[in-house]
Amino acid sequence: MYKETAKNIRESLTADCMKCFGLCCTALHIVASSDFPINKPAGTPCIHLQSDYGCQIHGNLREKGFKGCTVFDCLGAGQVVSQVTFKGRSWRDNPEIGDKMFQVFPVMEQIHEMMAYAAEALSYDIPPALSDKLSMQLKELQSLSKFDAEQLLSLDLVMYRFPLNKLLMETSKYIRKSLIEKLPGTKNYNHERADWIGKKLRGKDLRALDLRGAYLISADMRNADLRCVDFIGADLRDADLRGANLSTSMFLTQMQINSAKGDVKTTLPYYIQRPFHWIN
Ligand code: SF4
Repeated sequence: MYKETAKNIRESLTADCMKCFGLCCTALHIVASSDFPINKPAGTPCIHLQSDYGCQIHGNLREKGFKGCTVFDCLGAGQVVSQVTFKGRSWRDNPEIGDKMFQVFPVMEQIHEMMAYAAEALSYDIPPALSDKLSMQLKELQSLSKFDAEQLLSLDLVMYRFPLNKLLMETSKYIRKSLIEKLPGTKNYNHERADWIGKKLRGKDLRALDLRGAYLISADMRNADLRCVDFIGADLRDADLRGANLSTSMFLTQMQINSAKGDVKTTLPYYIQRPFHWIN
């Protein structure tokens, strides 16, 4: 697959709430917390969801205590379930399909997440053999996303996650190694699942580190150089990324970035939007 095609696929995996029947505001089970002040059972619409599937408090979610809603991102799964799987039929007009639609949504979310990682990996300069394997995985995931509701609900997604994860690790190692060879000095680059909660990393050169699954909650990474860092599954809640360079950080998601702090000087990868709450 051409790198440009992969880039376009990665960029296209973004939520389009106008084409969705408010699935994240209805399908999910949410327990009251500092990010969402009320308990909401799965399949029950949020009290702020309007009849047109818009959010009544969209403009001041954070002020009202619904910070979690400004962080969540479905990577486009909501509009695909609404418009492709259920062919534009809404759960409000067709209550008999509601339960199934709400069950399909988290399945589609996982498929979209895997597609996003596979497409991103394919957008890098990687060996042809690795690229071929990733292309096959991506095509398979794309075909799953077109399955009907019954087929989607019968999937065992672990069967897809394991082989994909192996390929993503291989991609990460290859890309980071290419940079590590050019960096002076010896460093420990493997910090997978590190507990760096609140760690002071301001202005540090952290290029090419493996931070897969690391706990970076409230870490101070202001003005840090985070190029080619593997962030897959890392917890970046309230990490301070003001002025940081994440332009070529790997396997970041919009949700991770939405949950962190940043500003207009933070440099982001091409497929990530600058969060509205960073600017205002
Ligand atoms: S507060 Fe708004 S965005 Fe959040 S779940 Fe409710 S309707 Fe959706």
